[in-house]
Amino acid sequence: MNELAARLRREVRGQILLNEPLSPYTSWRLGGPADVLVLPASLDDVAAVQELARERGVPVTVLGGGSNVLIADSGLRGVVVRIGRPLSAVRITDDVVEAECGAPFPRIGRLTVQRGLTGLEFAGGVPGTLGGALAMNAGAHDQSTAAVVLEVTAVDARGRVVRLSREDMDFSYRSSRLQKEPGLVAVKAKLRLREASPAEVRERMRAFMERRRRTQPVGTKNAGSVFKNPPGDFAGRLVEAAGCKGMAVGDAMVSPMHANFIINRGAATADDVRRLIEKVQTAVFERFGVELAPEVRMLGFA
Ligand SMILES: Cc1cc2nc3c(=O)[nH]c(=O)nc-3n(C[C@H](O)[C@H](O)[C@H](O)COP(=O)(O)OP(=O)(O)OC[C@H]3O[C@@H](n4cnc5c(N)ncnc54)[C@H](O)[C@@H]3O)c2cc1C
Repeated sequence: MNELAARLRREVRGQILLNEPLSPYTSWRLGGPADVLVLPASLDDVAAVQELARERGVPVTVLGGGSNVLIADSGLRGVVVRIGRPLSAVRITDDVVEAECGAPFPRIGRLTVQRGLTGLEFAGGVPGTLGGALAMNAGAHDQSTAAVVLEVTAVDARGRVVRLSREDMDFSYRSSRLQKEPGLVAVKAKLRLREASPAEVRERMRAFMERRRRTQPVGTKNAGSVFKNPPGDFAGRLVEAAGCKGMAVGDAMVSPMHANFIINRGAATADDVRRLIEKVQTAVFERFGVELAPEVRMLGFA
C-alpha cells in the first residue's frame, strides 16, 4: 500500500492520505480508517487512481459527502476516492446545469431556485454531493435526481471516461448504475430543469425545508432515512408501529422524533448502528412480516 501511495503522490495532483480516519468524512461521524484516501483535484486524477489501483488489484471505494453511508469500525481496505470540493464547479445556462460531482447538492438546489428553475427544490434539504445524489437517486416531495438528468460523465474501473445517458444510468428508487457497477465514479453531470415562477419555486423550497425542521432531528449526527420505503408503505410508520422509537444499542438510537432516523448520541460505533438496524428489522418483520431493506450503504462489513 505504501508503494501505491508513493506512486499516487507522484502522479496525482490531489491529496493522498495514508491510514486516514473516515469518521470526519461522514454525517454519522462513524467508521474506521481508509488504507489510502485520495482527494482528487481533477478528472485525470480519478482516472490515474483507477488505473494504478486496477494494476495492483486494489479495491476502490467512492465517497461523496458521506451522508448516506455506514462505514465499518475496521475501516475500508484499498483506496477510497472522495469526490469533494476540488471538483465542485457549477455552471447554469438557461435551464441546463453543468456541475462537477463534488458540488454540494443543496448548493445546486439553491442556485437553481435563484434562477427560477423547478426540479431541484427538494435538494435544499438533502446533504451531500451531486455524485452521491446521482448514485442514490436522491429524492423527496415527489421530486428525484433521475428526473432532471440529461447526461453523466464518469470514470470506469479501467480509468476510461464514459458518458452515460439517463437510460444508461439505470435509475430506480434510491438506486442507480453507480451502485451496481464497482469502481464507476461520476465526475460531472448535465441536468435539465424547467423554467417556472421564481416566487413559486422559492416558496416550494422554503416549505420543504420548513417541513424537515418540524419532522426531522435536525442538528443530530444521522444519515437521513435508514430504510427504504417498502412498496405502498413508509418505513418510518412501520418502525414506529413496531415500537422501536427510542430503541438503542450503545449510543446509537432510533430517533424519538422520526422513526426512520438513527442518531449517534455521541459515542456510538458503526457496529452499534449495524446491530440496531438488525434489531429494528427483526421487530418490523415479527410484527408485520415486512423485510425492511437499508437505504444507507453499508461499506466495509463482512
Ligand atoms: C439530514 C439528512 C436528510 C436526508 N434527506 C434525504 C432525502 O430527503 N432524500 C434522499 O434521497 N436522501 C436523503 N438523505 C441521504 C443523503 O443525503 C443522500 O443519499 C445523498 O444524496 C448522499 O450523497 P453523498 O454525497 O453524501 O453520498 P455518500 O453518502 O458519500 O455516498 C452514498 C453512495 O453513493 C456513492 N457515491 C457517492 N459519490 C459518488 C460518485 N461521485 N460516483 C459514484 N458513486 C458515488 C457512494 O459510493 C455510496 O454508495 C439525507 C441525509 C441526511 C443526513
